[in-house]
Amino acid sequence: MSLDLRVGIGYDSHRLVEGRRLILGGVEIPFEKGLSGHSDGDILFHALTDALLGAMGLGDIGQYFPPSDQQWKDADSAVFLAHTRRLLEDNGYRIVNVDAVIVLERPKIGPYYNAIRKRIADVLGIEMGRVGLKGKTAEGMGPVGEGLSAEAHAVALVERN
Ligand code: MG
Repeated sequence: MSLDLRVGIGYDSHRLVEGRRLILGGVEIPFEKGLSGHSDGDILFHALTDALLGAMGLGDIGQYFPPSDQQWKDADSAVFLAHTRRLLEDNGYRIVNVDAVIVLERPKIGPYYNAIRKRIADVLGIEMGRVGLKGKTAEGMGPVGEGLSAEAHAVALVERN
């Protein structure tokens, strides 16, 4: 019996702008700005979606949910992650774990870690213990440090049955 493990990486970055809600990992975080984007701008869900698609060798989020498609305007990005979960199941994969980093100058997201981890776990149908999350600042450097944007990085490990 041999293990068939596959790893995937995902990354996303959106602008922080006024007049948008700040949604990270499906959780709304009170702040004066939010992430721009065609959908709800949830960089964490987008990075996780790409990490899982990458692990399966099945392309990227833009192929399944093109921003040119009006259907996805202001969409809840949980839809993208839930679709990816179905692809995993249909192709005989299970998630070993996912891990992610959000790079954001403000606000502090530490108080929301567990709510975000729970939401990710629920959408993916895995235990919360298989979901890692960290928040970092950019220490004032670059567009993230200046509060103009935020980034998310994610990795996913999956096993093919
Ligand atoms: Mg995106």
